[in-house]
Amino acid sequence: MKLVIAMMKHETNTFSPVPTPLARFGPNGPYRGKAAYAAFKGTGTPMGAFLDLAEAERAEIVTPVAAEAYPSGIVHADAYRAITDAICDAVAEGCDAVLLDLHGAMVAETTDDGEGTLLERIRSIAPSVPIAVALDLHTNLTDRMVRNCTAMVGYKTYPHVDMYEAGKHAGTIVLRALRGEVRPVMAWGNRPILAQTLRMGTSDAPMKDLVAAARAVEQRECLAATVFGGFPLADIPEAGVSCVVVADGSREAAGAICQRLLDAAWERRADFQYRSEPLAESIARAKAFPAGPVLLIDHADNCASGGTQDPMTVVAEVVRQGLQDVAVGAICDPEAVERMIAAGVGSKVTLPLGGKVDMPAIGRKGSPLTVTGVVRVISDGEFTVRGPMYTGVRTFLGRTAVLDTGALEIVVVSRHHEPWDLGIFRSVGIEPTAKKYLLLKSRIHYRAGFLPIARHIVECAGEGVTSSDLKLFDFRKVRRPILPLDASVGA
Ligand SMILES: [Zn+2]
Repeated sequence: MKLVIAMMKHETNTFSPVPTPLARFGPNGPYRGKAAYAAFKGTGTPMGAFLDLAEAERAEIVTPVAAEAYPSGIVHADAYRAITDAICDAVAEGCDAVLLDLHGAMVAETTDDGEGTLLERIRSIAPSVPIAVALDLHTNLTDRMVRNCTAMVGYKTYPHVDMYEAGKHAGTIVLRALRGEVRPVMAWGNRPILAQTLRMGTSDAPMKDLVAAARAVEQRECLAATVFGGFPLADIPEAGVSCVVVADGSREAAGAICQRLLDAAWERRADFQYRSEPLAESIARAKAFPAGPVLLIDHADNCASGGTQDPMTVVAEVVRQGLQDVAVGAICDPEAVERMIAAGVGSKVTLPLGGKVDMPAIGRKGSPLTVTGVVRVISDGEFTVRGPMYTGVRTFLGRTAVLDTGALEIVVVSRHHEPWDLGIFRSVGIEPTAKKYLLLKSRIHYRAGFLPIARHIVECAGEGVTSSDLKLFDFRKVRRPILPLDASVGA
């Protein structure tokens, strides 16, 4: 048996000013061939699961490419072409099945449906070869994606700590289909809801209940069922809440289960909306806590949703209100890092930090914050994740430095990275459990590593292209009417 196993992942924020060239899809561009295998073998990812399944089958394994970029703006045409060509060329050489680790919200310059376009092309090359697809919970599902593969399974957790399980689940269905044990058929649908990312955590309602419902039907009625929260910051027709069900042989059964799950999601539509608190009130509330760690969640600027990771709004408010013993993880500002490296460890520097990137989609110019502090640490920014999300994956922050202002220890990185693992601080000598405040540029993924050590959590509405105020964004392509842009829907 010969299996093509590949990864192509990008959550495209069509409002993000951060460019997405091929180089963004790995430490030196995408991993290819044996390097793709080596980078993800033994990791807690769908690709890691596919490799384990293939080895258990004693299959011949081909890994043409493993490409994952941090969420950012629309994927450059040549990057999309390079990654999809690598996968399609491998399929064209012949195989018994294709196992794909995709995100499910990729928009490229040449297509609004990055995954659907890829899958359609693979199907045209190999019409009868089964295709398994693992997807992120933030997938914006399309008809073209569903029509052009054999079985899809999405993550059931956010933070995504079940990536491996989702890959194993999707891959197992397709391997069973190859043996003639099952005949997977799929049905899908969506509802007009742009769910707020902050309302998709799977330990909270409504996703907690919807995931429980999906798990329950998987026990009795179908091979797989996934409810997707979707990714609201992609201005494409299909953005929003959707569901896909894989049944054994009966499309009617798949359709009926899918509609039931979608009805349950629609019932909870009000719970998918987020109401933010004025920033000054959030920081004042945080200041009143006697003990930490208190997590300050700067959710409008989450680089794992396309944020620039450099607006200083929340940091500035923390400084204004005089919070002490704060660690900031992290500001992405390669220019500031270079200046700190040039100054050297132990030097006192004054520099404009962050705010280098304009955000035209929300009408904001970059606005740096002038800070003075001592350069404490200079590092290569590499560490291996030990926590429950992306376990075992090597992480590259680029050249990194820590600026100590007295009240704040600010980690400044050169490559985007959302803090979901304590390694963001420990890799530069800051012990997060000993800090009063941890300011994290994150929305929900921080929970993977930081929830166990947090005493309090304060969501802070700063500025950025991952703002929870969807009215800030000029949506033109998404299907209308849709919640919350059109309040009358379902009222
Ligand atoms: Zn996600």
